[in-house]
Amino acid sequence: MTAPPPYPSTATATGEVPCTYHKDVMTRLRCSRCAKPICPKEAVRTPVGLRCPDCAGVRGLPTYRTPATSIARAAGLGLAVALLVGVVWGFFPAWQFYLALALGFGSVEVMARAAKFKRGRDLQVLAIGIVLAGLVVSRVVLSQRLAIPLSEVNQLGEYATYFLQLRLIPDLIYALIPVLIAWYRFR
Ligand SMILES: [Zn+2]
Ligand SMILES: [Zn+2]
Repeated sequence: MTAPPPYPSTATATGEVPCTYHKDVMTRLRCSRCAKPICPKEAVRTPVGLRCPDCAGVRGLPTYRTPATSIARAAGLGLAVALLVGVVWGFFPAWQFYLALALGFGSVEVMARAAKFKRGRDLQVLAIGIVLAGLVVSRVVLSQRLAIPLSEVNQLGEYATYFLQLRLIPDLIYALIPVLIAWYRFR
């Protein structure tokens, strides 16, 4: 028992340990980033040495994996901007073209920054949900200002009426702008 290898229980006299991915393959190779044992079967040659598939990013581009904390931060900030723009939109519906752009670019851009410019389906769905929330808020504020009780908005029978009179959702094109921005940004 001399120099203790990193995996004493399974290490052999030659310093070989079982591959992380193939327990029956003994190896001396280590990932150059996380140092876990890898074997030639899955080791990925990179400019900075051999890497495990996780660190080499072959299991999907690294930019498509976003940590939960970044996602939560992005969601919080994006939602704050979306709600703010939604409220403004409720008060100034005539500015809806500019507010649609502000909602899209504003909330999506703070999300992108919070997520360190990562992209992916999770962020995409989240961003679309958040701009939709902003749109809903704009309708809620608008209906409040026009003194239409929200309980009536929820009644399906009344829905069509409000859709026409109050535009419960904004004109489709303006609703589409921020959604498309969100979709495109995190594509
Ligand atoms: Zn690794
Ligand atoms: Zn292996």
